[in-house]
Amino acid sequence: MGCLDMGYEDNVRRVVPYTPGEQPGGRVIKLNTNECPYPPSPKVREALRNLDTDNLRKYPDPTCSELVSAIAGYYGLKDENVFTGVGSDDVLSMCFLTFFNGADPVLFPDITYSFYDVWASVYGIPYKTVPLRDDFTLDPAPYRQKNGGIVIANPNAPTGIAADHGVIEEILSSNPGVMVIVDEAYIDFGGESALPLLNDHENLLIVRTLSKSRALAGLRIGYAFGQKKAIKYLNDVKFSVNSYTMNTPSLLAGKAAIEDDRYFKEIRDRVISTREWVKKELKELGFSFGDSRTNFIFASHKGTLPGETEKDFAKRIFGSLKERGIYVRYFDKPLIDGYLRISIGTDEEMREFIRVLREIM
Ligand code: PMP
Repeated sequence: MGCLDMGYEDNVRRVVPYTPGEQPGGRVIKLNTNECPYPPSPKVREALRNLDTDNLRKYPDPTCSELVSAIAGYYGLKDENVFTGVGSDDVLSMCFLTFFNGADPVLFPDITYSFYDVWASVYGIPYKTVPLRDDFTLDPAPYRQKNGGIVIANPNAPTGIAADHGVIEEILSSNPGVMVIVDEAYIDFGGESALPLLNDHENLLIVRTLSKSRALAGLRIGYAFGQKKAIKYLNDVKFSVNSYTMNTPSLLAGKAAIEDDRYFKEIRDRVISTREWVKKELKELGFSFGDSRTNFIFASHKGTLPGETEKDFAKRIFGSLKERGIYVRYFDKPLIDGYLRISIGTDEEMREFIRVLREIM
């Protein structure tokens, strides 16, 4: 006898999905998803141009071995210390599924990448958010409570602020019994990587991406560093979900991007110097923001109209900029609804952004 009194919806895994930034078409200034404003390395273009399309009839290499070796070689690690996936979102999702299988709540900051609670929910992982300090810096003390794992974005998003020296090490040392995932999506723009801690901490997993500093968001390439055993656990889960996660063009282009160190450093440095110029301009316009170590600035303003609150101002400026074809990100969420997250574009885009901002403030 079947379940005649049930609809299929009784069995649906219902989730509130993550909301990605808009991807508008046409000619806009796009400062809303922390993409790189410069094209990928010419070596990537060359690799894709040389792609043997006949070869696409075959499945890609499930171990992603050439990309894994390129990444391992670049960072002075062994292949066994590297895992790759379809953007760091895929890598992080695999990490949640692999390492957070206990009864105690996984901890992460109350203001952080808004995908963490979504993965926890979809996989049924208990979690608890931990307040940042009022200035959005990371306090390691609350991470001494009993937990089933920890996730820290460093530098953090959407605040752009990097953890103080020693904070990540303190969290790792006080939590030897659980996996600590450090999401270093923006590390190339000025934070201090946890990589030197990898040898001494088997509970450390560092997640990175080629989407930001290597200008490859469109190909979806992410990776993780861990000790051999942790990477093996990750691969066991990956091969139990989908063996062929990364496609052949991405594997080739990712390797080419990693190998072009000169180009990587050039565009990274350009983004950093533009960011410092934008900070100076925003300060002059009366904005407040922390010390961004990322390719975006998270800024608030007391308001310029009579009675205008920080939230009113942020919403108004977000809307006015959009009307003029300039997209930034606004999160209508407690604690951060008075802020705009502004990705760093080219010098020309940022000059235009500041010009328009002056006009509409
Ligand atoms: N982590 C953080 C903190 C991010 O901001 C992003 C970008 N949305 C990601 C991970 C995911 O990036 P990707 O999947 O493009 O590697």
